[in-house]
Amino acid sequence: MKKNHISEKAAPKKIAGWGHIPKVPIQVSPFFSWPLKPMVMLFWLWKRWLTITENLVILIIAIISWTFFQPSLDRTKTISLDWVAEIWMRNILLLILVAGILHWFFYMRKIQGNKLRYDTRKLMFHGKQFSFGGQIRDNMFWSLSSGVGFWTAYEILIFWAMGNGYAPLLNPIGNPAFFVFLFLLTPLWISFHFYWIHRLLHYRPFYRLFHSVHHRNVNVGPWSGLSMHPGEHLLFFSSLLIHFIVPTHPLHILFHAQHQALQAVSSHTGYESLLIKDKKTLDLGTFHHQMHHRYFEVNYGTLEVPWDKWFGTFHDGTIEAHYKLKNRQQDK
Ligand SMILES: [Zn+2]
Ligand SMILES: [Zn+2]
Repeated sequence: MKKNHISEKAAPKKIAGWGHIPKVPIQVSPFFSWPLKPMVMLFWLWKRWLTITENLVILIIAIISWTFFQPSLDRTKTISLDWVAEIWMRNILLLILVAGILHWFFYMRKIQGNKLRYDTRKLMFHGKQFSFGGQIRDNMFWSLSSGVGFWTAYEILIFWAMGNGYAPLLNPIGNPAFFVFLFLLTPLWISFHFYWIHRLLHYRPFYRLFHSVHHRNVNVGPWSGLSMHPGEHLLFFSSLLIHFIVPTHPLHILFHAQHQALQAVSSHTGYESLLIKDKKTLDLGTFHHQMHHRYFEVNYGTLEVPWDKWFGTFHDGTIEAHYKLKNRQQDK
């Protein structure tokens, strides 16, 4: 330890400046640590799929979208305004519904107050750094224009390609196990991909050009999740190109695209969980990403694929991890 480094012994027990800190150390997926712990792995899957979770809610949204609001592959063979407009409308409405309800619940009606809220400072209704002079207007603009635009464009591209046989189609009847397994793999693939595009976006020229738009939000709300520059949206949704390689069903495409878009929204809620009768009912905002918005140089990825742990950029929310970060910054 260098002379001017902060001593961990003299340190307080919690990192300062947060209204709420969840249980730390934050745990990453147990599927990548050795020796494998089957019970921990099962619990991880249970917590993510079989309780009320974002995965399950998004899967239900995807099933409803596919059943009632998805043009057939016969129609998507030929690009035409009618089905393109249907997809665009569906995505606009979904985003307004999810981000709108979360924003209304937590920031307009303030139904949960500051309970489980990480950063209790107000969102910036006014601020010169934002487009249109305020955080909410700025975030809504980038999410609804470029965010929905790129989300829709990638879906159009893949459904058009699948309709024409350029993207491989999976038959669920012939491959039921693989069909189900692909849903479990989707959040992993998103996590795998997100870390690398996010590292790229922190490369100074790309940061200045693109990623700084997302990082205007030091404190975040639901509308911040998909608030990005078009250059970032292009990269962010490019994980969907995997459907040109891996045989999938349209339901996988919808789940993947909606997971990418809507989980970006929910993970920026700023609250750990939705409380119903004081019981944590639906986990929303993630503290590790909230820390990324404040400390920049940590937590580029998510918890499903622990790239940050392997590359030494993981902040697990403990005071020890925090001093490591501070000392690393001092050494620069
Ligand atoms: Zn970033
Ligand atoms: Zn973010």
